Amino acid sequence: MKPTLVLVGRPNVGKSTLFNRLTRSRDALVADIPGLTRDRRYGHGRIGDRPYLVMDTGGLEPVASTGIMHAMAQQSLQAIDEADKALFIVDARQGITAQDKIIAEQLRKKDRNILLVVNKAEGMVDDVITAEFFELGLGKPHAISALHGDHVNELVALALADFPVLEEEAGQISKHPKIAIVGRPNVGKSTLVNTLLGEERVIAFDQPGTTRDSIYIDFEHDGIQYTLIDTAGLRKRGKVKETVEKFSAIKTLQAIEDANVVVLVLDARSEIAEQDAHIADFILQSGKALVVAINKWDGLDQYQRECIKHELARKLGFLNFAKLHFISALKGTGTLRLLVSVNQAYAAAMTDLSTPQLTRALHAAVEKHAPPRGGMSRPKLRYAHQGGTNPPIVVIHGSMLEHVPDTYRRYLENFFREAFKLTGTPLRITFKAGH
Ligand code: GDP
Ligand code: GDP
Repeated sequence: MKPTLVLVGRPNVGKSTLFNRLTRSRDALVADIPGLTRDRRYGHGRIGDRPYLVMDTGGLEPVASTGIMHAMAQQSLQAIDEADKALFIVDARQGITAQDKIIAEQLRKKDRNILLVVNKAEGMVDDVITAEFFELGLGKPHAISALHGDHVNELVALALADFPVLEEEAGQISKHPKIAIVGRPNVGKSTLVNTLLGEERVIAFDQPGTTRDSIYIDFEHDGIQYTLIDTAGLRKRGKVKETVEKFSAIKTLQAIEDANVVVLVLDARSEIAEQDAHIADFILQSGKALVVAINKWDGLDQYQRECIKHELARKLGFLNFAKLHFISALKGTGTLRLLVSVNQAYAAAMTDLSTPQLTRALHAAVEKHAPPRGGMSRPKLRYAHQGGTNPPIVVIHGSMLEHVPDTYRRYLENFFREAFKLTGTPLRITFKAGH
């Protein structure tokens, strides 16, 4: 599992700026999703060969004890409990504020992995900052500049120092679909898991300790082996009294990370919510193969169904590489067809394409529609090779590639997807100068 860092602090201290620096995040992507506000963002970071996850919380506003602010603070506090390390950001230029003190007090109570980060410290003397912010009682302050990048790498290295170095990728590649069933509470994840398993023989069961609270279950259908990563399901079965499941963003993120195919479960009986969009956004960032299940399709009339389809196209149109399934987990309709799409998405994600195949497709794409001129010259796309799987990465070699616009990159992405019939997986295009 990749370690998870969470950024907390009052508004305006520079959490977003730091988040963007750590993830080199594609802001546009986040902004494109309707209903997605800035209150929570997730991203991938990497330092050297060490990957990690970062989460930007909406900001702790401990002054309000009711309403939205309170709810947000609660969410942030939950995130701190789940994360491996919390970075508490304060502002060197403003000094310690009343809000900082209240947050610090809450964090001290947690007595967990917290690093005190003093941002906007460019051009300031470390010793002065250290002396001032020690007062917060959270150990040694670490001065950085998120804007300029000063000491950011040291900070991350320090934050990750306690965690074991992962044997990257090698151990994680499984030879069969490893499916994460994700979605917000009450969409029907447990019901779906139970339906899928109810029909099949469960081979191995319950491997605790594999990840925070998620359960890994192996099963077989039609001679094909699957592993389900269950973020909610079986635990509930044994419970006598219904308890409201707290949605755990980090558990969901870790499950997505560890899967090779994600099944995103949505609820046809309620609006597509911000939380759905957040999860969808993270799936997109992760590059994992995806199948979307719109659950509770039973008992809806034609008009309701049309409305839902319309809403899906409008709000989740950016997931257009994935197959949609309208299912009823409760009645067991459509669930086995879901597995067919899982297999298809898995196969697409793991495709190996040869350099001649890719290069031919590249030339066909350019012939049909050449890249636009950038300034004085036109980018030249010479040949392509595959740089990875899950998602498939197509590395395009040529010159003047910095002039290739994003729209053209998307055109190529779609062209390759069509050419090689890659349903259910995103595809990444990267450019490499030279021969
Ligand atoms: P957030 O509300 O905590 O996410 O804060 P933002 O990341 O939006 O930053 C708030 C303001 O502080 C913006 O105007 C940033 O440009 C500025 N800022 C962030 N980091 C630094 C820094 O390291 N130095 C300086 N001087 N300004 C910064
Ligand atoms: P989870 O929190 O995502 O695991 O959701 P659950 O599986 O616990 O389901 C939440 C509620 O939705 C329960 O009352 C289920 O009986 C109900 N539910 C689940 N799937 C369906 C379905 O396909 N149709 C209908 N009508 N209700 C469903």
